[in-house]
Amino acid sequence: CDRALLAARSIKGQYGIYFAAYDDKLRDELLRQQAIIDSMETALEEGQFLVYLQPKYRIWNETMAGAEALVRWKHPEWGFQSPAEFIPLFEKNGFITKLDQFVWDKTCYYLRKWDDEGYPPVPVSVNVSRADIYHADIADIMMRTVSKYGLTPSRLHLEITESAYTEDPGQIIETVSHLRELGFVIEMDDFGSGYSSLNMLNQMPIDILKLDMTFIRSETAKPADQGVLQFIMELARRMHLSVVAEGVETKEQLDRLSETGCDYVQGYYFARPMPAGDFERLMRDQISSRKKSLSS
Ligand code: C2E
Ligand code: MG
Ligand code: MG
Ligand code: MG
Repeated sequence: CDRALLAARSIKGQYGIYFAAYDDKLRDELLRQQAIIDSMETALEEGQFLVYLQPKYRIWNETMAGAEALVRWKHPEWGFQSPAEFIPLFEKNGFITKLDQFVWDKTCYYLRKWDDEGYPPVPVSVNVSRADIYHADIADIMMRTVSKYGLTPSRLHLEITESAYTEDPGQIIETVSHLRELGFVIEMDDFGSGYSSLNMLNQMPIDILKLDMTFIRSETAKPADQGVLQFIMELARRMHLSVVAEGVETKEQLDRLSETGCDYVQGYYFARPMPAGDFERLMRDQISSRKKSLSS
C-alpha cells in the first residue's frame, strides 16, 4: 500500500504539471463548447448561419454537375466557426435537426431561384445527420420543403454518412428507403471510412457512393490504394452506383481517379465551398464557355 502511494506520488511529482496543463485545456474547451451552445439559437435567428456551395464536376469533361450545400457559421465576434467543431456538438444536443432544416430550406430556395433565372437545373446535395433520420417526420419535412418551392425530390441529393448506418441499421434502412421511393437521390457520404460490410452495402438504399478523402490524400494514400480504388469502382459499377470522389486537391489525384473510372469529383483543385452569388457566377461562366465552344 505504501509502495503504491509512493509510486502515485512520484508520478504526480513527475507528471503533475502536465495534468494541470491538461485540465486548463479541457476547461477552456468545455467553456468554448458552452459558449457555442449558448449562442446557437440567436445565431439561427439572426442569420449568422450561411449556406455555401461547393461544385462537383464530371471527371471526363470537367463540366459542373451539381454542388454540395455546406453550412457556415459567421459569428459577429468570433468570425467563421468550423463545422467540424460545431456540427458534432449540435448532433449531440439535437440542435442539428433545426439547423439542417434551415439548410435544406435555403438550398431549395436557391434551386427555385436558379430555375426562375434560367440556369440549367443542377442537383444539390445536402447533408443529413443520423439524428435527422431518427426524427419521425423526416420524409414529411423533406417533401414539404421541396413542394414549398415547387421542386421535384430528385433535385435534392441526401448525403448520409456511412457511419450513420452502423447503429440500428434496420431503422435507418427503412427510413432512407422511404425517402428514396419518394424520389430523393441517396448518397453514402465518407464511404470507406466506416465499418459497413460489403454484405450490408447490398441492402442499403443508395444511388451514389461518396468516397472518403483518405483514399486519395497523399499523407494517407499508399501505392496499393490504386488497387483498392479500382476495386471500389468495379464494385460500384456492378451495383449500378456512381462514385463521387471528395477532397481532390491536385492534378495527380485527379489523374489517378480518372484512371479508375470514377464519375464525379469535388475538391479544392476545382473550387472551394463558396457563397451562392459566387456559385451563380460560376454557372454563368460555364454557360458562356459552352456557347463559345458551340459557335467556334
Ligand atoms: P462532408 O459532408 O464530408 O463535407 C466535406 C468537407 O470537406 C467539407 O468540410 C468541405 O469543405 C471539405 N472539403 C472539400 N474539398 C476539400 C479538399 O479538397 N480538401 C480538404 N481538405 N477538404 C475539402 P466542412 O464544410 O468543414 O464540413 C465538415 C463536415 O461537417 C462535413 O463533412 C459534414 O459532415 C458536416 N457538415 C457540413 N455542413 C453540414 C450541414 O449543413 N449539415 C450537417 N448535418 N452536416 C454538415
Ligand atoms: Mg457531405
Ligand atoms: Mg464526406
Ligand atoms: Mg464528413
